[in-house]
Amino acid sequence: MKLISLIVPVLNEEEAIPLFYDAVQDVLHDEPYDVEILFIDDGSTDRTLEIIEGLHARDPRVRGISFSRNFGKEAANLAGLAAAKGDCCVVIDGDLQHPPEKIVEMYRLWEQGYEIVEGQKASRGAESHAARAFYSLISRATGIDMANASDFKLLARKAVNVLINMRERNAFFRALSSWIGFKTVSIPFDVQKRAGGSSKWSTPALAKYAVDNIASFSAAPMQLVTVLGGIMLLVSLVLGTIALVQKFS
Ligand code: UDP
Ligand code: MG
Repeated sequence: MKLISLIVPVLNEEEAIPLFYDAVQDVLHDEPYDVEILFIDDGSTDRTLEIIEGLHARDPRVRGISFSRNFGKEAANLAGLAAAKGDCCVVIDGDLQHPPEKIVEMYRLWEQGYEIVEGQKASRGAESHAARAFYSLISRATGIDMANASDFKLLARKAVNVLINMRERNAFFRALSSWIGFKTVSIPFDVQKRAGGSSKWSTPALAKYAVDNIASFSAAPMQLVTVLGGIMLLVSLVLGTIALVQKFS
């Protein structure tokens, strides 16, 4: 029987994880395949790890990876993909903002031969202004339309192997998965309300994330440095000339 791995990065999601687990059971229990649920605890300081351990004791299909500190969602996704055993992997948020019933739709497309199924945000109602600004900035900088892209996606084993062998640990997962190619299809989903807790992104964290991702996907920052250097050179030549002229006249 085929195995499908769910990769779930979680940071301080003690409230959401049990709800997520129940929702996944409801959706997948009639499906003709095995499931493993892999939670990656990205350095939580609440009872997240304890809750994962409790689920694992009850249901051995649940496994956990525990990070020594917070490394960020990108690292958690990749660690999950590296540990997953599935014939395909579905990367999904643990706060139920990515609707689990879409997993079945993704799986059907995979059965039809697609190697990557991208979840695309149909509506972005629940997003902050900072998040919105972030996506428009990053789309312009990377040249990949990221406005409706999300981390909710299915990857066939072949694509998973390519990603984990890239040894890229700070990559912008969302863009990387489209950059590697493969037979891809998108399906729309509506971003849901969070199941408890709050968003793990502060505005400074989002700003750092934007800069990291722009730097790793585009040469624009380097060109900016060159252009600024040129401007500084011109300005100092002009100022130097003025100073010399004043001194000698
Ligand atoms: N997350 C994580 N590490 C982080 C930040 C977030 O593992 O440093 C997880 C979080 O627990 C959730 C998912 O990534 O399962 C999406 O995060 P969040 O809901 O905070 O982001 P948003 O939906 O607001 O973009
Ligand atoms: Mg969320």
